Amino acid sequence: MALDRLLKGFADFRLGYYREHLDLFEKLATQGQSPKILIIGCSDARVDPGILTQTRPGDIFTVRNVAAMVPPVQMPPDQAQHGTSAAIEFAVRGLDVEHVVVLGHALCGGIAALVDGASSAYATYDYLATWMAVARTVRDVAVHDLAGRPREEIVRAVEQAAVVNSVANLMTFPWIAERVDAGKLVLHAWWFNLIEGQLYAFNPEAATFDPVTGIEVAPTVRQGTRLSAIKPERLLLALADPTPAFSAGGADHQSRAPSAIRS
Ligand SMILES: [Zn+2]
Repeated sequence: MALDRLLKGFADFRLGYYREHLDLFEKLATQGQSPKILIIGCSDARVDPGILTQTRPGDIFTVRNVAAMVPPVQMPPDQAQHGTSAAIEFAVRGLDVEHVVVLGHALCGGIAALVDGASSAYATYDYLATWMAVARTVRDVAVHDLAGRPREEIVRAVEQAAVVNSVANLMTFPWIAERVDAGKLVLHAWWFNLIEGQLYAFNPEAATFDPVTGIEVAPTVRQGTRLSAIKPERLLLALADPTPAFSAGGADHQSRAPSAIRS
């Protein structure tokens, strides 16, 4: 039954969209792909980057994995099979994309499993915990800073902080940092709330995720961005204690930082 739906969809695509975009497909087939944007999204079936952004074939290079995460750089030869890092390298070095967007989302099962830890229904899975350890520090800081808050609030904080953490990890790849420094590459931390159909972008000055209301968005990392602005701990501190004026310089962060932070 489920497969019938797919095959019917493909028949519709072939007779409809494909025929209507024959010129585009011919160009893509003969000239190759040249997307300007890499989107790193979650595997979650509800958050397809191409549908959310209404893009056409060839517009975006996409990596999807559990919780839309980027691990920190680990240079070969270490014999590990770095699927996400390989795709990022191809997009950045091979395709020369101009933007990288890390797109997290609400109700992320991977992040919920990370927050729940040993009590998660998925705690015995073979691969999940090791993969989600990419955001383990972020999770630990959130649990510490937001102690006593409802679980849903902590999960949401980790969903957003994990996106910022992944953008920070992008900067550990030397060929990404070089391109950012040269003004050739811009990095974005986005979070999609599928409950309300709203997209949010990380504002590095305020360390908050702000709604995207038009076609302009402040990048998270561009040429000259202070690296201290992309620390996920700043977002968690802002969420934990939103009332005091928050120093963009990070002085408050230093004085109020919990011991769990490893910066
Ligand atoms: Zn997810």
